[in-house]
Amino acid sequence: MLPTNGYAAMTAKAALLPFVFERRNVGPHDVLIAITHCGVCHSDIHQARDEWGNSIFPMVPGHEIVGTITQIGNSVTGFHVGETAGVGCFVDSCRTCPACREGLEQYCEAGMLLTYSGRDKDGQPTQGGYSSQIVVDEHYVLRIPSALSPAGAAPLLCAGITTYSPLRHWGVGKYHKLAVVGLGGLGHMAVKIGKALGTEVTVLSTSERKRKDAERLGAFDFALTSQPETFTRLRRRFDFVLDTVSAPHNYNDYVNLLKTDGTMILLGAPDKPTLVEPFPLILHRRRIAGSVIGGIRETQEMLDFCATHHIESDIEVIPIQQVNEAYERVLKGDVRFRFVIDLVSLK
Ligand code: NAP
Ligand code: ZN
Ligand code: ZN
Repeated sequence: MLPTNGYAAMTAKAALLPFVFERRNVGPHDVLIAITHCGVCHSDIHQARDEWGNSIFPMVPGHEIVGTITQIGNSVTGFHVGETAGVGCFVDSCRTCPACREGLEQYCEAGMLLTYSGRDKDGQPTQGGYSSQIVVDEHYVLRIPSALSPAGAAPLLCAGITTYSPLRHWGVGKYHKLAVVGLGGLGHMAVKIGKALGTEVTVLSTSERKRKDAERLGAFDFALTSQPETFTRLRRRFDFVLDTVSAPHNYNDYVNLLKTDGTMILLGAPDKPTLVEPFPLILHRRRIAGSVIGGIRETQEMLDFCATHHIESDIEVIPIQQVNEAYERVLKGDVRFRFVIDLVSLK
């Protein structure tokens, strides 16, 4: 076994603390990655605080992982030692169901094996990227293009693919108007990727302070969701609404911003349900849909797309010792737009 340093939540809502645990030895199909950077996703906070009710403790969060390959198993063919590699939200799946065979491992019928807070085949809990190293089967590892910086690429492994996948799935492009609700980690990636796809992007935010950021990111328009006139001015304007908000809120307001046949795509995962009114959907044949991350093939496609379009996440790099403070700041919307942990600080 491989002794590994990390930071863990020992129980729900407890502050994260230094934690030593063991990774499995490198198997024939595995690579060992010395982690250099890991993004802080809002899902890490939901899970470390057991807001979705399925957390496993002790928990080392982190699923936006970038590092350097330091060892490979005998049968590994796709990676070599010294290469920069990434790991996202899952590290295995059944590999045989129709979803897995289509490259949609995130919709695996047996359930994808989450990078952390999952239960591996040997019964051991998986542990994430707020740690010094990780052992992963090569089929679940991504190549980080050399045009991307490791720190700026890390958030692409969740925030990037979570926004890229639905935009591609629904064919969002040049002739569409897209509203992005919530300008956080996911939201700012949606603006960048939406813009690169040629879409007219409007940001809907609770924070007047983010107006300038939205402009800088290339948004066409910005509106405050606290102002009732936003919902009259933008009524029936959009083909798509991409909702990235992490807390419960009224979906019906946003449905009314869709054109006939428009689609509202839920990405944010609040811990409480919301009442949906039928009439705004019925009367304009609108849809509410959802989407979770993306498969391995599409994640690689997204990384290559971002390299081609010079897209990285806007980040604030922190040492691991500041992770608890970073969680509080994420909850206040006080980050532009993703904290990334520099794991050198763990040594
Ligand atoms: P984040 O950086 O905290 O961004 C969320 C944004 O939502 C905030 O910046 C804020 O934007 C807005 N917001 C927060 N609280 C709000 C409230 N009470 N009312 C209205 N707006 C509020 O979080 P993230 O990492 O982007 O993640 C966002 C959500 O997506 C989380 O629930 C996360 O678990 C989920 N997620 C889902 C997937 C998936 O596959 N579907 C993947 C990753 C994450 P403004 O300041 O602009 O209002
Ligand atoms: Zn995430
Ligand atoms: Zn499967």
